[in-house]
Amino acid sequence: MKSPFSERCRKLKKQLEASELDALLVTKRSNWYYLTGFTGDAGALVVSRKGITLITDGRFTVQAKAETAGIRVLLQRKGLYEDTGEVLKRQAVKRIGFDPQQLSVAQWNTVRKASRGAGAWVASSGLVETLRMRKESAELTAMRKAALLAGQVLEGVLKLLKPGVRETEIGAEIEYQMRKQGAAGVSFESIVASGPRSALPHAHPTAKRVRKNELVVLDLGAILHHYCSDITRTIYVGRTPPRIRNWYQAVKEAQQAAIAAIRPGVMCGDVDAAARQVLAGYGLDQYFVHSTGHGLGLEVHEEPRLARGQKRKLEAGNVITIEPGVYVAGVGGIRIEDDVLVTATSSEVLTRVTRDLIEL
Ligand code: ZN
Ligand code: ZN
Repeated sequence: MKSPFSERCRKLKKQLEASELDALLVTKRSNWYYLTGFTGDAGALVVSRKGITLITDGRFTVQAKAETAGIRVLLQRKGLYEDTGEVLKRQAVKRIGFDPQQLSVAQWNTVRKASRGAGAWVASSGLVETLRMRKESAELTAMRKAALLAGQVLEGVLKLLKPGVRETEIGAEIEYQMRKQGAAGVSFESIVASGPRSALPHAHPTAKRVRKNELVVLDLGAILHHYCSDITRTIYVGRTPPRIRNWYQAVKEAQQAAIAAIRPGVMCGDVDAAARQVLAGYGLDQYFVHSTGHGLGLEVHEEPRLARGQKRKLEAGNVITIEPGVYVAGVGGIRIEDDVLVTATSSEVLTRVTRDLIEL
């Protein structure tokens, strides 16, 4: 059986041909892992018609040889980008693709200088990311497990959530439970935001204590078998007042409408619009201050983006989040987020936690 890595490299080489590139310099960790299986922190990967070369330093060469197959692993001797430039020069490639978002100006200058005479540099962002959008079945197995784990941890920490507990305690418990239940770690720093702080969409835990009659937003995710999950639930500590209940209902319906809009061929911007339209019906659209969702995979934020006007079309195998919210400064915020797989005909929600308002 072919390894997923060699198959992905084969697809990438076809893309390079279509873009008339002789080589692609890959300098992002998640991308070199996707193409080779190398999990080290430092390196550079050159994909060309002459083969695949990973340049890395002495801390990672043994690991790189053990984790990869069918590629050349070169021990870095001078500097990473100097050595990478020399590899490109030796291969005499004419058009070299690189990702300007993943290479600093200083790094680019070094690699260009060392590869002098090699060829023209072509800004080529997103080639590997486009391949990564369509998940293979083994990737989906990992993502399903990561999604379930995040949900279990979320349900577990609800037991701790009571008046007097600090946001940081909840944050620490999330991290502990993730690791205890097998995750490699959290996929991003958890969000625990109580009271008026819940109106800040990305508030990290502070020493603030949870109080009675407050909203609490919990947003967390696990990394399991290299893949990320991302889930948000909003809790009310006490009996929910009618105004907040109405906001919650609006966000829940907005999320349902967006999920219902998901199927292959639909534009990402149309899914975003489905959520926004429901909130507008409640007169709350001005309080929805971010996009509806994002792709999920080896990274917690990847392609495609589900934002206003996005023309990219969903395809079967994409995994995205759907996370509308309403944030009223000084009062509080509500967000509901789930991870959703685009299937051949519609969608499958991977996270399994009730979306009804949780009152504690
Ligand atoms: Zn999230
Ligand atoms: Zn998210």
